[in-house]
Amino acid sequence: MAKLNEMTIAEAARALRARECSVRELWDACVNEAHARNKELNAFLEIFDVDDGALHGAQKRIDTEGAKAPLLCGIPLALKDNILLEGKVASAASKMLEHYRATYDATVVKKLKDAGAVFVGRTNMDEFAMGSSTENSAFGPSVNPHDTERVPGGSSGGSAVAVAAHLALAALGSDTGGSIRQPAAYTGIVGLKPTYGAVSRSGLIAMGSSLDQIGPLAASVEDARILYETIRGEDIMDSTTIPDNLYPMRAVSKSLRIGVPRHLLEEGIDADVRAAFNALLEELARAGHVLVDIKLPMSAHALAAYYIIMPAEVSTNLARLDGIRYGFAERGETLLDDYVLSRTKGFGEETRRRILLGTFVLSSGYIDAYYHRADAMRAVLRREYSVAFEKVDAVAFPTTPSPAFVFGEKSDPLSMYLGDIFTVTANLTGMPAISIPMGHVDRAGISLPVGAHFTAPHQAENILFAIGSAVEKIGHV
Ligand code: GLN
Repeated sequence: MAKLNEMTIAEAARALRARECSVRELWDACVNEAHARNKELNAFLEIFDVDDGALHGAQKRIDTEGAKAPLLCGIPLALKDNILLEGKVASAASKMLEHYRATYDATVVKKLKDAGAVFVGRTNMDEFAMGSSTENSAFGPSVNPHDTERVPGGSSGGSAVAVAAHLALAALGSDTGGSIRQPAAYTGIVGLKPTYGAVSRSGLIAMGSSLDQIGPLAASVEDARILYETIRGEDIMDSTTIPDNLYPMRAVSKSLRIGVPRHLLEEGIDADVRAAFNALLEELARAGHVLVDIKLPMSAHALAAYYIIMPAEVSTNLARLDGIRYGFAERGETLLDDYVLSRTKGFGEETRRRILLGTFVLSSGYIDAYYHRADAMRAVLRREYSVAFEKVDAVAFPTTPSPAFVFGEKSDPLSMYLGDIFTVTANLTGMPAISIPMGHVDRAGISLPVGAHFTAPHQAENILFAIGSAVEKIGHV
């Protein structure tokens, strides 16, 4: 048997029921590893003390209900620091909320608790989920376990490291423009951004409300599916959640039609990443799937639209953090001083940059030129994809143009933003998307994981899981 903390959720659930290990032993294996490695990796901003009641309750449920107990019963999970867990700090890796304690559970947390899951700790991230590396965390970056000179990706970088380094069996992250899928690709694990509205955002600290979704980071496609099935569902606490089958059901056939927009893959991608992607496609074709050349001409504008809409929503969402109600507060001579001092010192550089950008694109005189045009792009992209989905079951890209980069390499914000080119469209359109390991590329003698990215029609997560399993069978995971 693998080390307890190195098991998948599915393996651990089986081992717990077969009494090959106890809930306590599984917890100890993860938490001991987390304590041993967190100094180096900075995956967790806080590792929680043991909750004996929760462990005991989960063990009892497995003992009495056996196979009927939920698969997540007794499974140690990590939570991104922007997801509320009652009584615990949720800081969104910001000085602004460093001492903020959640007064209620996020809906996803409630669902995980109901399933008997236990929580190892809260994971590091880019401040308020803005970034692609965790370098924007107010508490120092997390480190990629494959190469400690390199970023783990972001913004859910801490969650990705927790899973990749086996400090927890799986984790939740949030994805506004790629923040689950990109760190999953950089650390060699699976990351799913569900359909917008499939998972409740109640209790998620909002970044871009029309783009944000909570989703799983996991060691396997099966584990991602287990977590997704547990956290999904309409929620009275989030009016943007959608009922089951709002969109037509998509059948999963044995031979999946995979759309490949080759015209978008000609430049701006590292040659070996493109080669790994092409090799995967060939193997999928050999396994009986059908590759279809598609054109997505408007996708070239997705990144520009994203970097207008997302800061616009950030600027409004973060307006409430003014040094008056809660969070970091600094007092000056006047009320205006209070605002300026609190927000200047409480927020990091990237957060301030995006608040300024967002305020600008929403201001009268510019809102038509920027925000409204970017917003109109969302419908254009949706239409372009729905045409493609008449011919294909999913669209494939590499998740990122390059493997994990070295700390400091993308200190120019524009170069950082460019890395999001393949992931933002799923958020702008609300479509579900998954990143699955597709092998490795070599940088300075170190082998670094890279990911393949698949997008499916709304509520067709089933197709993503099917493709994910097909990719896993090929054996890159
Ligand atoms: N990297 C993107 C950004 O910086 C995505 C962030 C996210 O998905 N939360 O906005």
